[in-house]
Amino acid sequence: GGICTPSQWLTMDRLASDYGNDTMRLTTRQTFQLHGIVKHDIKPTIQAMHQQLMDSIAACGDVNRNVMCNPNPVEDKVHLEVYEWAKQISEHLLPNTRAYHEIWLDEDKVVGDTEEPVYSERYLPRKYKTVVAIPPYNDVDVFVHDMGFIAIVEGGQLQGFNVTVGGGMGMSFGDHATQARLAEVAGFITPDQVLEVAEEIVKIQRDFGNRDNRKLARFKYTIRERGLEWFNQELAERLGYALQPARPFEFISNGDRFGWHQGFDGNWHVNLFIENGRIKDNIKQGLQAIAKVHQGDLRITPNQNLIIANIAPEAKGQIESLLAEYGIDDGTQQSDTPVSSATRQNSMACVALPTCTLAMAESERFLPEFLGEIDALQQKHGLAEQAIHVRMTGCPNGCARPYIAEIGLVGKA
Ligand code: SF4
Repeated sequence: GGICTPSQWLTMDRLASDYGNDTMRLTTRQTFQLHGIVKHDIKPTIQAMHQQLMDSIAACGDVNRNVMCNPNPVEDKVHLEVYEWAKQISEHLLPNTRAYHEIWLDEDKVVGDTEEPVYSERYLPRKYKTVVAIPPYNDVDVFVHDMGFIAIVEGGQLQGFNVTVGGGMGMSFGDHATQARLAEVAGFITPDQVLEVAEEIVKIQRDFGNRDNRKLARFKYTIRERGLEWFNQELAERLGYALQPARPFEFISNGDRFGWHQGFDGNWHVNLFIENGRIKDNIKQGLQAIAKVHQGDLRITPNQNLIIANIAPEAKGQIESLLAEYGIDDGTQQSDTPVSSATRQNSMACVALPTCTLAMAESERFLPEFLGEIDALQQKHGLAEQAIHVRMTGCPNGCARPYIAEIGLVGKA
């Protein structure tokens, strides 16, 4: 869900300066990236994160990755409730292996195998991504993940979730068996069924996922090959009950709601625009100054931006002046701070060159310049107010989710 405390933020900020290249990256999966850490500094970096109750357990493994969730603290108590479910899914699907603790945290080696009730002895054929969306906002892009839960809220009460399966972004150029694919809605479940349903769906992929060809090993291909009807039968057999018919829902946006918003409890929240999620220079210094005084929390959005959340009414003025002092864009289009175009605010690039070894083309370093051209064209044609979602990646893995953008640019060599 991308939520961290000011103290955790300050730790990451310090690690980026002490061991990294003095920048941090907020990612499309609501996580931090640090870049440029030399090998012998990785262990102290991970240990410092651990001391702040943060980890990177199985972050690149064939397991369920971090669970994303709409970070919106504004609306009502249902958002808090849904966020708690996202956390529980995440905890429930963590592998039990102590390897991370043994390697990085100097824990004594355990003799014998660790029980893995979800992953068994072989784990999944490939990585697996889960998200939770809360209509009408689809900022997590629920249809492009292996497994999704769409919260169904009626009369201000959480009724349950529609379950989605089989979405994913990555494909390989020249291999027509691979594709970016939208997930399908499988049915509806009540909140008390979430954990067992999530576990059984992961186990279906564990047992039926393709283990011969790594390029076809994602859950989306299992669903594509076997079909939704087969999936629902298999799931019902494992659960002992069938999913209910999906409930109606409507999404109106997958972007962020920039600027200041007051929550149901009177606290304020400001959704900042952080171009391509890169925290450096004045933004890094300003957020460091804010984290030192902030009493609430900080939330990474699925669009690589940042919400400074839970600001008490009496602290709002202080945060406003720090944002202005460091020239950080509060996204409102009305403030004194630098204002970006609507298109720029709704665009995303992955890191690509020089950071990602898979990149075949520029992305983060080139998108700002490219958007300058788009901005100029929009101005010329009187369309400056309208946001065009432009997403760019350095390779077809699609980390910035380009295939569902209005303009998607995918690097090729
Ligand atoms: Fe992801 Fe490819 Fe971009 Fe690397 S270059 S961050 S793998 S999309």
